[in-house]
Amino acid sequence: MAQFIALLVVLAVILAIVAIQWGVINADESAAQREKQLLDQELVALLGAHKRENERFAVGDEAYQNAHVQYSSEWVHRNMGQKLAQSFEHDLTILLNASLDPLYTANEGFVWLPEIYEQKLKSILSPTLRELQQEFQFSTIKRNDGFLASTDTSDGMLKPHTRSFLIEFDGRPALTALTTVTPESYTIPILDRRPCTLISIRVLNADFLAKISRKLGLHNLTFVPNGSTVPFSAQKQLVDQSGNPFGSLSWSPNTPGQDLWQQAAPIVYLAFSIILAVLILALRRMSAASRKLFESEAQARHSSLHDSLSGLPNRDLFERDLKSVLTQCQQTGEHIAVVYLDLDYFKEVNDTLGHQVGDELIRAVADRLRRAVNDEDTVARISGDEFVILFRTCRDKIDLRERCQSVVETFKEPFDLGSHRLFVTCSMGAVRAPIDGVEPGELIRRADVALYKAKEAGRERCIVFEPSMEDKLRQRRQIEAELREALERNQFRLCYQPQVSPDGRHTITVEALLRWHHPLKGTIPPSFFVPIAEGCEMIWKIGEWVLRQACRDGLNWPDISIAVNVSPAQVRHPEFASQIKRILREENFPPHKLELEVTEAVLMDQSDAALNTIEELRLIGVKLALDDFGTGFSSLSYLRKFPFGKFKIDRSFITSVEHEVEAAAVVHTLVGLGEALGMEVTAEGVETPGQHRFLQASRCTSLQGFYFARPMLARDITRRLQNEQKRPDNRVSA
Ligand code: C2E
Ligand code: CA
Ligand code: CA
Repeated sequence: MAQFIALLVVLAVILAIVAIQWGVINADESAAQREKQLLDQELVALLGAHKRENERFAVGDEAYQNAHVQYSSEWVHRNMGQKLAQSFEHDLTILLNASLDPLYTANEGFVWLPEIYEQKLKSILSPTLRELQQEFQFSTIKRNDGFLASTDTSDGMLKPHTRSFLIEFDGRPALTALTTVTPESYTIPILDRRPCTLISIRVLNADFLAKISRKLGLHNLTFVPNGSTVPFSAQKQLVDQSGNPFGSLSWSPNTPGQDLWQQAAPIVYLAFSIILAVLILALRRMSAASRKLFESEAQARHSSLHDSLSGLPNRDLFERDLKSVLTQCQQTGEHIAVVYLDLDYFKEVNDTLGHQVGDELIRAVADRLRRAVNDEDTVARISGDEFVILFRTCRDKIDLRERCQSVVETFKEPFDLGSHRLFVTCSMGAVRAPIDGVEPGELIRRADVALYKAKEAGRERCIVFEPSMEDKLRQRRQIEAELREALERNQFRLCYQPQVSPDGRHTITVEALLRWHHPLKGTIPPSFFVPIAEGCEMIWKIGEWVLRQACRDGLNWPDISIAVNVSPAQVRHPEFASQIKRILREENFPPHKLELEVTEAVLMDQSDAALNTIEELRLIGVKLALDDFGTGFSSLSYLRKFPFGKFKIDRSFITSVEHEVEAAAVVHTLVGLGEALGMEVTAEGVETPGQHRFLQASRCTSLQGFYFARPMLARDITRRLQNEQKRPDNRVSA
């Protein structure tokens, strides 16, 4: 646009200059034309005057008498030659007789040799002279005064015949007049013979031309004979009486346009220079502005395609790059890989250490990932703690695993973020193209499916996509959706399984166990849907329901405690402690009758945050039990560090206790450990009388298992508790 405007302005300036020049030329041409007209008129006037001057001396009675009837050389000299020279500055005066021979010749008023006529004029003037003579048609008439006269007019007078024209004389133009000598009145008889002719010539010499120049305002008016170079640009051709050109008058014409232009030019050029300067300035401004615009556009383009936090390409740019790489691959037949990477427990970092630390961690991870891949590979951040990597070459599955492993390795080093030192791991899902897909969105989604698997398999690993994973994931998504509905449609129920005294007679605690009554699939066990609910954060809402329901039911059993299972995801939630407090308050349930069962998974990461939550709950009287003890890390330090009042020996040990010496030894050790730490110990999964006997002997504080009771509805617990009270000495059995 700017260039177009500039072009227009420059064009306008050029057009203006051309128009001015054209005006200048036009003005000069019309001035020259006018000068030519003036010169024309002047020559006509000069010839007219010259003719009249000649006639004045050629026409008259005395002139006719002395020149024609009775020739008097003296009279002719005085009255013709001298007078014409003195009064009118004629140069040559020649009187020719009827036979056209010179009677008298004078040059500038002095009698001259007649040869001048013969040599220089005769040949030029003869044709005109003959013409003049032929105009006389003498006839004899009787005049009014009674004389018979030879005449060419009807009134008996002789009419004078005159010509005036220009000729070239002695290399110069000359005014020439020829007049027949005739009388003026009747008083003189007219001879029956052709009259004499008076010739008078005035040369247009330099002085004369200068006079004309002055009069007409012409410059350097000069005569130029035929064949010579015309010195000035304006000229008027001169022709003789027969119309033959014999030279021209040339002069340097006035140039009013040029003159005006010369005066105006500096101002005009100054004006144009100013316009151009302004234009250049404006253009510069515009180009600077458009450069800025371009830069900010580029900036906007960059930010629209990059993640502002890490500076890495975003999903859009990644997909674009991936698309073009995939197109290339189709041509070259090469294989590439896409890896979906997710930080393990990033949410917890954010929740416990704040978003600023979370942001710093993302930047540090981005940096590390960039360094972990080759230059040609791409790393992009696609959301929160999720990254994608594009490996531009990938030989096979083994190669891909190795590359992913090297990325996992880079996370072994801790991240030092100001005052925090974090050990962060990552999980990855990988796909290969074109084997696992040829479309960017599809590849990323499948990599995400594999990532899901990696998370499920215990995190901090990379899993390569298999088509079967997708079906499982699809089922899982379906269950996730159904779980949401289940809560709204009241499809959950709680069962309670008693934990009894070592002798099996008294119920000490009941453990709430969740059941899902699916309208089509029937009752679904928690081992199936709880991990799915944990994966989609539904566990938070479901957990709330369980706690509330357990409290409500528990209010009916004032003498026993209620054990509620809580997932690590719940405990890790920063709001967990306040959620429990709120429910206890709202349901009016005594905190010391609530026991929370957590697994060791809670303790493995972010232990400080979990510790704080657990400590907070312990302070209000809530009891805590470590579930499934013996299956995880079973670290002694956990038991010492966390304020658990109880641990539950996992069913797997109890099952083998009757037959395997090692299992029995472990159980003994664990019970001893509980005693040493002042903790209660519950044995889970007691199914047989033998197991019961063994456990009773081993001093467990409580026992749980099908041998005593299966999980049952709340009303059955009520009945059972009533029975226990009625028959206190009877062993309670399922
Ligand atoms: P858990 O906490 O270890 O619960 C005990 C599980 O062992 C229950 O299975 C129970 O029915 C089963 N059981 C008890 N005695 C015996 C026995 O003698 N033999 C055998 N074979 N099994 C026995 P259930 O109800 O299917 O629960 C499975 C797991 O689901 C629970 O294991 C617990 O981890 C989880 N769970 C149950 N309800 C909830 C809940 O409300 N919230 C959370 N987060 N997890 C729950
Ligand atoms: Ca449990
Ligand atoms: Ca358990």
